[in-house]
Amino acid sequence: MGKGTILVVEDETDILNLIAYNLEKDGYDVLKAGTGEEGLKLARNRRPDLLLLDLMLPGINGLEICKGLKADETTASIPIIMVSARGEEADVVLGLELGADDYVPKPFSPRILLARVKSVLRRKEASSGPPEERRIIRAGEVTIDKARHEVRVGQDMVELSATEFGILSYLAGNSGWVFSRGQIIRSVKGEDYPVTERAVDVQILALRKKLGAAGDLIETVRGIGYRFRETP
Ligand code: CA
Repeated sequence: MGKGTILVVEDETDILNLIAYNLEKDGYDVLKAGTGEEGLKLARNRRPDLLLLDLMLPGINGLEICKGLKADETTASIPIIMVSARGEEADVVLGLELGADDYVPKPFSPRILLARVKSVLRRKEASSGPPEERRIIRAGEVTIDKARHEVRVGQDMVELSATEFGILSYLAGNSGWVFSRGQIIRSVKGEDYPVTERAVDVQILALRKKLGAAGDLIETVRGIGYRFRETP
């Protein structure tokens, strides 16, 4: 029994083989696809436990694959890690909004790649259990009580607006995940609330200030969005 099956879609053969080699060495079963068409077919027929998806592919590209799989309920739950090249940040943002779980920028070390794979598989497993709203979120010095709408840093209560509280709960409740500004807006306000991406930056700025030193836990991911740092 392996640790799971991972489908790797990558048109550069050297990179494809390198990724496959490292995954297999770590105990995963690997399916390889050199084109988007092949990748889509394998994903549908074999339902891998995870998909490592190069964004820039000839023919059907990574974003189209992502869209196709997320739109189909038989494949929608397959976690997707995008592999992106420099300058593809806008596509990464789109991919996240289409439902991809994470991304790894090229060039990457096998160690980083394996860590991401492990972390996405672990999160997926944790979230596939019975849905349970966590009432208290703890991250480093920060404690968020969702029922009481209270936030503390250490012992000190921090006064937040409803929007700031929403953003903080969302990010901290999914620590380690990166979210685009569009995802943050939708999570807090619902689909069609008229708020700009710039407004998210303003909210984050205010949040960081109010959290003091703990504000560093909210990281800016350049070109992509924001992430609440995972604390041990
Ligand atoms: Ca490529």
